[in-house]
Amino acid sequence: MNADGSHLEGQWTRVCTRMRGEIGEAAFRSWLKPMAVHGAESGMVRLAAPTRFMRDWVLDHYADRLRAFWGDENPEIRTIDVVVQQSRTPSVLKESSVPESPAAGRAEAGAARALNQMQADDGISVPLDPRFTFDRFVIGKPNEFAYAAAQRVAETKNVAFNPLFLYGGVGLGKTHLMHAIAAHIRDNDPNRRVVYLSAEKFMYRFIRALREQRAVDFKEHFRSVDVLMIDDVQFIGGKESTQEEFFHTFNALVDQGRQIVVSADKSPSDLEGMEERLKSRLGCGLVADIHATTYELRLGILESKAEHLGIQVPQKVSEFLAHKITSNVRELEGALNRVIAHSQLVGRDISVESTQEVLHDLLRANNRRITIEEIQKKVAEHFNIKMADMHSARRARAVARPRQVAMYLSKQLTSRSLPEIGRKFGGRDHTTVMHAVRKVDELCDGDAGFAEDVELLRRMLGG
Ligand code: ADP
Ligand code: MG
Repeated sequence: MNADGSHLEGQWTRVCTRMRGEIGEAAFRSWLKPMAVHGAESGMVRLAAPTRFMRDWVLDHYADRLRAFWGDENPEIRTIDVVVQQSRTPSVLKESSVPESPAAGRAEAGAARALNQMQADDGISVPLDPRFTFDRFVIGKPNEFAYAAAQRVAETKNVAFNPLFLYGGVGLGKTHLMHAIAAHIRDNDPNRRVVYLSAEKFMYRFIRALREQRAVDFKEHFRSVDVLMIDDVQFIGGKESTQEEFFHTFNALVDQGRQIVVSADKSPSDLEGMEERLKSRLGCGLVADIHATTYELRLGILESKAEHLGIQVPQKVSEFLAHKITSNVRELEGALNRVIAHSQLVGRDISVESTQEVLHDLLRANNRRITIEEIQKKVAEHFNIKMADMHSARRARAVARPRQVAMYLSKQLTSRSLPEIGRKFGGRDHTTVMHAVRKVDELCDGDAGFAEDVELLRRMLGG
């Protein structure tokens, strides 16, 4: 550390105080307390983290705030960097700390585990993202119902509906709402035990408990919580023993009048590889879906995000992004971050031109995204049948074949699941879609003319 090291330490202490106020005691203790000041040079402060895992987390989640607070201490500081250094390892992590080496992955897993144990103190099993709160969730038509349901669960002690099942496509705010519920309860009702974790973590913990012969502890741990929140429950599709355990935990909690909140990327009935009894249990409370974003919502999110970052983004740029990045909110946020980072790096104002330049890869990818309706329309036109026949029950080959081609292309060109595709084709079963996919493959193999037709359609649809 250089000569003004004590200076830096003082600044770090004050930055820490402000960060603690912002992100809360638990997150502070887990992520920032183990950090140390490493040094400063030409506009950059360097912090040291005990593991790579922690370094990445801090850079991902807190770099913006750290930079802003440090800027208040010393306006010359414009960047925060974090390096990995073992020496300041806090005692709770020591056990599993080994030098960065081929064993680093193991050390990270160890550190993650130690952190989990620390977090378990306040009942929340993984750190909550401090940005994922209700007041930073922008409400619009596609998510207002899910938002209201989440808020209701967070605010009322009486279990009104059990479980709350939130579902929607990737990057649309499920985890944000889950964290918001957990944070709200933690802040307003600290006596209630909230456990929030991903279905994946639930499974790994379960497996570990079995291996270490602590299955009874595991059961007790999960069956004594007031609010159990499992994110991305689709993950346990096909994992039978984890489902079994989850099912029993679920029933035990419901019987005791405890609240359960679950998220997934599909509705309960569309979950693949899930036992029927679990599906029906999951669907018997309140099911709230988050729909794809609308232009208005995307614009609102961009404005809110820019405001939180304290950055002026021209209206035209926000409009441009809201028009072009339609996939999901995560990608939209990522795009805005890239545009901002670029403008700060090169010291130029943000404009539509610079945005186009910075995001050309992303813009191309978003252009290519295609819906099932577009596929149906194109295929119907091509084979000269009515759009209504995509949904109808008619089985004449002249309409059934094009319908199968449209199903096939829907499977190939969109990320929709078989049941979702089936529904868009007049509520057909997923096995019908599966059959269509096989049939078209078979026909393509045996009939060059047909294969050419399909290939032409695929190209017209941008696949
Ligand atoms: P999911 O869990 O559904 O995949 P996330 O909850 O992780 O999605 O959301 C992805 C990102 O988009 C997060 O940074 C989240 O804060 C943000 N986000 C999603 N929806 C909204 C919204 N309505 N308002 C503000 N931010 C949102
Ligand atoms: Mg999520």
